[in-house]
Amino acid sequence: MQFMRGSNLPEERGGGSNILMNSTCHDTIVEAVEADSFGYSCPTVQLMIRSWKTVKAVLGYTGFSEFSPIWNSKNLEELNVMGKIEEWDRRGIHCLAQLYRAGRLKSFQEIREEYAVPNRLFFSYLQVRHALEVQFRGKVIEWSEMPLLRKLIKWEEDVGTITEEQWKYVLALGPRVSLAPSQGVSHLYLIYRSYYTPVKLFSFGKSPDAKCHHCGDRRGDLIHMFWRCPKLHRYWEGIVEKMNSVFGTSLDMEARTCLMSLMEKNGMLKDTQTAIIRCLFQGKKLIARKWQAKDPLTMAEWMKEVKDMIMKEKLWYGKIGSMKKYKSIWKLWLEQERSE
Ligand SMILES: [Zn+2]
Repeated sequence: MQFMRGSNLPEERGGGSNILMNSTCHDTIVEAVEADSFGYSCPTVQLMIRSWKTVKAVLGYTGFSEFSPIWNSKNLEELNVMGKIEEWDRRGIHCLAQLYRAGRLKSFQEIREEYAVPNRLFFSYLQVRHALEVQFRGKVIEWSEMPLLRKLIKWEEDVGTITEEQWKYVLALGPRVSLAPSQGVSHLYLIYRSYYTPVKLFSFGKSPDAKCHHCGDRRGDLIHMFWRCPKLHRYWEGIVEKMNSVFGTSLDMEARTCLMSLMEKNGMLKDTQTAIIRCLFQGKKLIARKWQAKDPLTMAEWMKEVKDMIMKEKLWYGKIGSMKKYKSIWKLWLEQERSE
């Protein structure tokens, strides 16, 4: 996953029409507040800078974050005096964190290999290095990623690499998982890994061990509780089989499919995909609701949830005069139900 500057967080991008962003030389609000680069000060800008400082303090940041820009930053006086080195900027070197690895400034060779910087920029590297040495006076910079990003990156350990496009899709799924906005938030609870798993409770000292309540496995972490637990195997297998039989798909029995709704589209209609996303969401919701249950979840319980959801959607779409939409989403499910 490559979290490029601002591109993964479109809502944070200032956009040309935003008067605040027009007054700064940075692309995103986070970069602008980190650099304190607003061209004028007004109560909104001051409030934003104060709020960001509070957010950083709450998240445990004491100094610079991975969003701190290198260029045009009032907080990096030494580099600011030097001015922007356009060739570095063009090669994608924008943020301070890109220059460091494990608390130490990267060598020219590392930067050259990573950003295809030509040898002739060695002199400018020496200038930057000198400026940073003067700026930080030998202090070790402690880098930590934003907790949210760290959580998202953890997903890649659990389910494999997720491309930037796929992340955009997963993070934007909230409004598609259900017609109820609160359910969209539930989707984000899972993606942001907000559940109190046995591992988390154990780490907080709230539980004597980190075991899964269902199977007794020693490591009841998020991926175990939602996917790897052997007690869930039949449940997920049944759901995937049912999806494939109803929608004529060939969804894989994989965590990235079932938990993140990542699937090959293969010409699939958008409404069919919505139906699958909603059915899979019911599967996850039931796991969260029956978190402490002793007995393994069953397909029958999931079927009941899906049928209730479809019933509610019928009422809702009927009320807003969109039965065509309802049929387009649920046609295949309803057809199979009739043939049973
Ligand atoms: Zn288990």
